[in-house]
Amino acid sequence: MTGEKKSIRLSKCSVGTEEQDAVLRVFNNQYFGMGKEVQALEQEIKSYLKTEMEVICVNTGTAALHLAVHCLDLKAGDEVLVPSITYVASFQAVSATGAKPVACDILTDSVFIDLADAEKRVTEKTKAIMPVHYASDGSDIEKVYAFAKKYNLRVIEDAAQALGCVRDGVQVGNKGDILCFSMDGIKNITSGEGGIVVTGDKVLAQRIKDARLLGVEKDTERRFSGERSWHFDVHHQGFRYHMSDIMAAIGRAQLAKLPQFAKRRKEIAAQYLSELNSIDQIKFLKLDYANIVPHIFVIRVINGQRNALFDYLQEQGVSVGFHYNPNHRLTLYKTEYQLKNADLISEQIITLPMHVDLTNEDISYVTGKVAQFFRN
Ligand SMILES: *Cc1c(COP(=O)(O)O)cnc(C)c1O
Repeated sequence: MTGEKKSIRLSKCSVGTEEQDAVLRVFNNQYFGMGKEVQALEQEIKSYLKTEMEVICVNTGTAALHLAVHCLDLKAGDEVLVPSITYVASFQAVSATGAKPVACDILTDSVFIDLADAEKRVTEKTKAIMPVHYASDGSDIEKVYAFAKKYNLRVIEDAAQALGCVRDGVQVGNKGDILCFSMDGIKNITSGEGGIVVTGDKVLAQRIKDARLLGVEKDTERRFSGERSWHFDVHHQGFRYHMSDIMAAIGRAQLAKLPQFAKRRKEIAAQYLSELNSIDQIKFLKLDYANIVPHIFVIRVINGQRNALFDYLQEQGVSVGFHYNPNHRLTLYKTEYQLKNADLISEQIITLPMHVDLTNEDISYVTGKVAQFFRN
C-alpha cells in the first residue's frame, strides 16, 4: 500500500448509461407522471421477489411506511412497537398517523428488536409491530410473527435496507404481512427517491394504491391503462405519494443490476470480516452475511474509543457514519423508561464505507487505517 491519502465515500449510488438511457426514454415521451414505467417496475419487482403479493411503488420509503400504517386505520393513541435504533423515518411514519410509536430495546448482537423488552410494552392499545431489518438482516423475523400472532398485531416490516436479501432460500418480500422497502439515493438500488409496499392483503393493497393518489378511487388502474380520472369518489384521506415514470425508469435499470450489486456488497462485507477479524477492540454484528445484501457495514468498538476512531478515520479520508442515535432520546419520542441495550450499542457502533464502486484496495485502505488506529 502506498502512503497516499485516499478519499473514500461512505455510501453512494452507482449509475451509468443504462439509467441515462432510461431517463431519456421517459424524457422523450414528454410525460413524467405515474404511468407505464411505474406499472412495469411494479411487475418487475413482483417477478424479482417471486411473490404472489401486491407490489405498490411510491415516492419514498418513508411514504411506504406511512401509507402502510395509515391504511390500517389505527385510532389516535393506538400503539406500534418499534425498535429504538432505526432511522427516524420508522418513528415518523407511525406518529404521522396519530398513532404512537413505542420505543423498544434491541438485541446487542444484531440490533434487531428485543421481543422480551417489546413484550413488556404491550398494552390493550398495541395494534402493530414494526421490526426493522437493521443493516439488512431480518433473521429473527419468524419470532416477530409468532409474537404478533400471540398479541393479535399487524406486522409492518421496515425492510428499507433489505432489498435483495434472501431468507430460508426465498427473497425477503416474497411473503409476510406488510413489507416496506426504500430505493432512496443510497439504498441497495435507487430510483432517485422511491419506496415499495408489498402486502398480500388485497383490501389493504387497494387502500394503499388509492391513498398514494389522494384517495382517488381506482386512479392507479386508470393511469395504467392510459386514462384519467375525471369523475371519481373519495372515501379516505390520501396523500400525493405516487412514484413518477422518470423515477420508475431509473428503478428498472437499477433492478436489472441488483444481482451484480448484491454480489459486490457481499464481497465487500466478506473482505471487511476477514481483514478486521484479528482486531480485539472491535466486534462484528452477528448477521446472516451469506444471505443478506448489506446496505451498511456496522462494527462495534468495545473499548470505549468509538468517537476517537470516528474522528481518526474522517481525518484519514475515510468517510464513516453512525446508524443510529436511539429514537427514544429524541425530544419528540422521549421515553420515561431506559433502554439499556440501545443506549449501550449507540456508544459502540460505527459504519464503514459500503457501496458497489469500492475497490478491494479501498477496503484494504479502510481496514488498514482501522488497524493502525488500534496499534497507536
Ligand atoms: C432509508 C430508510 C428509511 C426511509 O426510506 P426513505 O426512502 O429514505 O424515505 C426507513 N427506515 C430505514 C431503516 C431506512 O434505512
